[in-house]
Amino acid sequence: MDRTESLPAQTRPPGVADVDPGSVLLPGNDVPLGRYTTVRRLLPQRRRRMVGAWCFVDHFGPDDVAERPGMEVPPHPHTGLQTVTWLLDGEIVHRDSLGTVRPIRPGQLNVMTSGHGIAHSERSPAAHPPVMHGVQLWVALPDAARAGAPDFAHHADLPLWRDGDLDVTLLVGELGGERSPAVTHTPLVGAQLTAGGAAPARLPLRRDFEYALLAMSGSARVGDVPLAPGALLYLGSGRQSVTLDAAPGSRLLLLGGAPFEEPLVMWWNFVGRSHEEIVAAREDWTAGRRFGTVADDAAPPLPAPALPTTRLKARTRHGDILR
Ligand code: MN
Repeated sequence: MDRTESLPAQTRPPGVADVDPGSVLLPGNDVPLGRYTTVRRLLPQRRRRMVGAWCFVDHFGPDDVAERPGMEVPPHPHTGLQTVTWLLDGEIVHRDSLGTVRPIRPGQLNVMTSGHGIAHSERSPAAHPPVMHGVQLWVALPDAARAGAPDFAHHADLPLWRDGDLDVTLLVGELGGERSPAVTHTPLVGAQLTAGGAAPARLPLRRDFEYALLAMSGSARVGDVPLAPGALLYLGSGRQSVTLDAAPGSRLLLLGGAPFEEPLVMWWNFVGRSHEEIVAAREDWTAGRRFGTVADDAAPPLPAPALPTTRLKARTRHGDILR
């Protein structure tokens, strides 16, 4: 159990759920991605592995890519997860082993479901906008869905509304009575919040979800906690609402979901349940089995890194090692 989880979220008196019940600000880590991009990795962290089924959160940019290739991530495999891609600036072409070739631009959502196995690449087109800025998120698939067929969906028409001074774009799940068209497999929410005015904005939450917020641009305060790009604010569960005091124009990402109780083994681009599963996925990728060939991308696939010399361990969402 980590320190965050020891906070007495269940013992607060009713009616004070919006008072800070022990939110924790978690600084991210800078990680190179492909040859030309550095991302801020906000999940997983040692102190916080997951928020609902969200198991991986990368925030990249804004980067000046006017004289550079932009994003260049060659073909690589995934198992056991969905990738969720959302851009604030720039353009990426998604190509995958289902034959998909699909540009994504700001305001559009890509959701790729790996099921048992898929391969994809993500590259900015040669002629691309001068700024690259966005997030890529992974959602762990529950046991009941993770052996399913791979799938790719592009959503250009997402629920969008104004709640007080907040412009809300619902990426996945349900919020405020709206529902995203994106298919998910656990109770989940992901939404972009754009601050329209200087007044604090109150957003309704579900007590049975845990939540986190990150600033993609601008800045905000949640209670006494300042939030700026590069950190994840874990809000915990048991809240009826959260009040944001965001600078006008700031763009925040709200992530939440029902706590995900299945322990995971996460290694490289694979999400599994055991060391043996990950070894098998790595062997299949290296041997050219299972994942297929990415359409319209002749670049050499990314080689899998060497496995560690010790067995990979399953971890709970709290970071506890099972065995
Ligand atoms: Mn990927």
